[in-house]
This record gives sequence, C-alpha cells and structure tokens, in this order.
Amino acid sequence: MSQYHPLSEAEAIEIARTIKDVFPTGEELVSKEIGDGNLNLVFHIAQPATGRSLIIKQALPYAKVVGESWPLSLDRARIESEALIRQSKLAPGLTPRVYKTDSELALTVMEDLSDHVIMRRGLIQGGVYPKFAEHISEFMARTLFFTSDLGMNQQEKKRVVEEFVNPDLCKITEDLIFDAPYFDDETNSIEDHIRDAAEAIWRDEELRLEVALLREKFLTHAQALLHGDLHTGSIFVTPESTKVIDPEFAYYGPMGFDVGAVFANLLLNYAAQEHWSPDESSRRERRAYLLNTIRDTWNLFEKKFRALWDEHGIDRVFRAKGYQDDYMRRLLKDTIGFAGAKTVRRIYGLSHVADIDTIPDATARERAQRLALAIGTGLIRHNRQAESIEDALRIASRAI
Ligand code: ADP
Ligand code: MG
Ligand code: MG
Ligand code: MG
Repeated sequence: MSQYHPLSEAEAIEIARTIKDVFPTGEELVSKEIGDGNLNLVFHIAQPATGRSLIIKQALPYAKVVGESWPLSLDRARIESEALIRQSKLAPGLTPRVYKTDSELALTVMEDLSDHVIMRRGLIQGGVYPKFAEHISEFMARTLFFTSDLGMNQQEKKRVVEEFVNPDLCKITEDLIFDAPYFDDETNSIEDHIRDAAEAIWRDEELRLEVALLREKFLTHAQALLHGDLHTGSIFVTPESTKVIDPEFAYYGPMGFDVGAVFANLLLNYAAQEHWSPDESSRRERRAYLLNTIRDTWNLFEKKFRALWDEHGIDRVFRAKGYQDDYMRRLLKDTIGFAGAKTVRRIYGLSHVADIDTIPDATARERAQRLALAIGTGLIRHNRQAESIEDALRIASRAI
C-alpha cells in the first residue's frame, strides 16, 4: 500500500490499526471522511467500543479551483508533518499530537481534536475564548522567534529554509492574496452588489503601491518558518485550550504574515457582526471582545517575543541598542499590512469566509462586506505609518 494513491476508508482503517498507542485492542474501527475535499482527505477513525479515535489527513495531488483541477505537489504533506512536528516541539501543547507520518502516501496520523471546535465556527456561534490570546501569542512568539536568525543557529537556519521550500502553496498565496484582488481577474468571486467597491480598489494606485511592497516582502523576506495559513479555520479552540492545525503552507517568510492572518480573521468576524449580533448593544459588546482579543494578542506576543530575545538571542550584533525596538516596530507594520491584505481577499477573491458568506440577508451581508473592505484597505493604506496596535484598532472602530 506504499505507492501514492488516495486511501479508501478500509485502507485508512488498516493504517489506524497500526497506531497501538491509540488502539491497543482489536475492536472494530469505523471511518468517516470529514474533510471539505478541496485539497486533502481527512479521515476520522473511531473505535466505538472504547471511545478512542484518531485523524488521518492525506494530501490530494490537485486542488479543485474554479471548477478545474490545479495540480499541487504532494510534497506539501511532508512539509505539513515536518512543520507540525517542529511547532509541537517549539510550542508544546498548542498542536495536535502526531502519531505517524508517511511521505510516500502523503499523510499525517494525528490526535483527534473533535472535542474542540474550529474557531471560525465557534466565533460565528458567539463563543468566547478567554485563553486564546495567551495561547496564540505563545504559539507565534515561540515558533517565529526560534526559527529566525534571532533565535537559531544561522547556518542551520539556511538548511531549514531549504527543507521548507514550498513553491506550489506559496503561489496560491501570491496569486490569491497579493495579485488577483487588485485586478479584474477571472478568479475573483464578486457579488454584484459590491462590484463598485472592487472596481474602486483596482483604480487605487496608492493602495496598489502598498500591496506591491507587501507582495515583495512575502516573496523575499525569509525571516522565520511561518505557519502560512493561520486563519481561524486552522485553529481548534475550547475555552481552556487552543490547538493549531493545517500548516501545509509553511515556508520561510515574513513573521507579520502569520500574526496578520490571526488579526484579519478576527476582523472579518467583527465585520460579520452586522448579522450575527441580534441588536446594537450585543454588537458593541461582541466587537469590543474581538478588538480586545487583537490588542491582548499583540501585546502578549510582543512581550513574549522580546523576552525570548533577551533570554535566548544568539546574535551579539543584534544586541545593538535600539535594534530590538526597530525590529518590533517593523514587525507591527508588517502585521497590519498583511492583516489588511488577508481581509480584502476574503471579500471578493476566490476564497471567502463563512463568517460573511453565510449571512443569509443580502443587505446585512453587503454591509459586512463593505465594512470589511473599509477596514482591510485602511490597514493596507496606513500600515507603514502605524506606531502601535492601537492605530490598527482605531482603523477598525472608525470604519463603522
Ligand atoms: P485542509 O488543509 O484541507 O483545510 P484541515 O487540516 O484544515 O485541512 O482539516 C479540514 C477539516 O478536517 C478541519 O476543519 C476539521 O474539521 C477536520 N480536522 C482536521 N484535523 C483534525 C483533527 N486533528 N481533529 C479533528 N478534526 C480535524
Ligand atoms: Mg479546508
Ligand atoms: Mg484547513
Ligand atoms: Mg490546509
């Protein structure tokens, strides 16, 4: 069974049986494919007699995009499992346990997190996650610091950069985040009622200059090993626990791209409150919660990142007075710019978010879309002037 082919449910069960840590006894196993089927298969394998279970994720050699098939390297499964293993060492407790990987079959066998909820769904349902800022700031500070030239041997880092060359998935980001939304591109998916807003963006030279600068950074700035797809659909939560999944887009890139991804997805949910909050006062409260989560996440991230640097920084040149402050200022600006780019593409690019797309009423949906675009373009436009996270939060609260 070692040559690559998409697994049948029977084969997935056969592989699961070999994981004796999870299934030490021989009772019956049942399999259910639970992935959304665009890029990967996800099998949930359970043993009803014992209540034990695990997940097998397998990469498919193509993505279904705009009705066609887009070939995608299976090497991303190797990248996903290696990134997951590295992240779990750097940020213990914040990723699923990995039981087994097989790069021939392009699969990862991992802990079943079905007792958690995907954060996007949890936020849509009004969930509150009081530990999230603490956990996600820890995940980002540790994974980014310890894979950068600040926190790891700089010769070793160059080898790790090579291990995570991920051209196919980077191209998805380069096309769908940093290109198509700024042109009348056939991959865009634009609801008629906001076409005028998209067209205004296509004419906006000032905005396109900022997007060019962000695109350049994404293409060239091998700062740290990124998760690469850190939206709220890649995060499992409960009120007590946070687990980051799905790092198949991992590559060496600019740190602000990961931090900005988290903020963008909180802001998309913020905009979507046009519908999900039943009245003005609950809407205000919900939005304050989301902005506070961004504020807490940034402040904790900065504090932890600086503390790691002070304690574990490996480079004496980088101890120059003022350098750390300058670095953190640039990281904040990048974060804000990338957060903006990640917000805009979700409104009329190829791939949207459920927070907004599942709003049933077209008028409320349009209000949410326009609000998200105002926030996203505001963040892109002002990223290089931003001096503190409060500048970004002001852009969000004034856009209403
Ligand atoms: P994709 O790369 O195709 O987006 P994901 O890794 O995000 O794949 O997984 C898709 C879905 O499969 C998740 O949204 C979740 O519902 C389910 N899933 C993935 N990993 C796990 C896990 N470890 N435990 C439980 N469910 C999972
Ligand atoms: Mg998916
Ligand atoms: Mg995913
Ligand atoms: Mg994925």
